[in-house]
Amino acid sequence: MFEQLAVDRKTAAAIDEAVQRGRLPHALILEGGDEATRLAAAQEIACALVCESADRKPCGVCPKCRKALSGSHPDLYLIEPEKEGAPIKVDAIRALKSHATLRPNDGDRSVFHIREAQLMNVQAQNALLKILEEPAPHVSILLTCPSKAALLETIRSRATAFALSNETATDTTDETAPQTAKDMLKTLCEGSELDLLVLLAPLQKDRPLFRAALSAVRPLLRDALVAGEDLPAMTQEEETALLLRRRLTQKQLLDLMDAAQSCADALDRNANLNLVLTYYCSRCSEIKLS
Ligand SMILES: [Zn+2]
Repeated sequence: MFEQLAVDRKTAAAIDEAVQRGRLPHALILEGGDEATRLAAAQEIACALVCESADRKPCGVCPKCRKALSGSHPDLYLIEPEKEGAPIKVDAIRALKSHATLRPNDGDRSVFHIREAQLMNVQAQNALLKILEEPAPHVSILLTCPSKAALLETIRSRATAFALSNETATDTTDETAPQTAKDMLKTLCEGSELDLLVLLAPLQKDRPLFRAALSAVRPLLRDALVAGEDLPAMTQEEETALLLRRRLTQKQLLDLMDAAQSCADALDRNANLNLVLTYYCSRCSEIKLS
């Protein structure tokens, strides 16, 4: 976990260690990388902060992680400019403050993510400073911005900053995605959840490829729904459809289409790549066993 967070493994390991021991500083600045990387990193940390797994956090599959991933967790707050590039004003930070004084709804932590934090005007930053000076024990604040240099020194001195590196993407997505989709479905039919995780592990570094593969999965499943069982398979696609048809029920095929769609939607909302991958694998194996 946290691979895309830092420029070096040592920093990633330090964050992971702090998360697992519940010792993450109450205010973090995530700077650098591109917007998608910053959002993904903030989401992964927020998810880890609310995760209820006794094992490694974030697990990606517990009810709290699922709510966090689907954007429905009541204790995760996003503060962002009303329009792209518009300033974040003091009213937004006052609203944050009033939420921060309440107990969390669904656990023991409230997480406030201020996106494009560099757009906070000076008044807003000063209001935030008051909150950082006397942090409530159940409050975590994540600031994401291209560079922390745009924040007041007083804010920077009360938060721990981490530099991000961009997620890497291949330029062979178009050719690779259909094959990846077929491999995913074949492994789903013939292998275990672990086999699927191993197959998908390289995609932890390739959001566009995973997104394209999820799109390519759906037509294969649709073909399987209408495939005649006795027809000989001529192409690789037909072969995959036939395999699916023989191994899975109609309901399972439809559920798999839903799972691919909801994971694709999550990626489009800039959800954390690793968590969506983990969720997809566990959802697929749930469907297979249903
Ligand atoms: Zn969890």
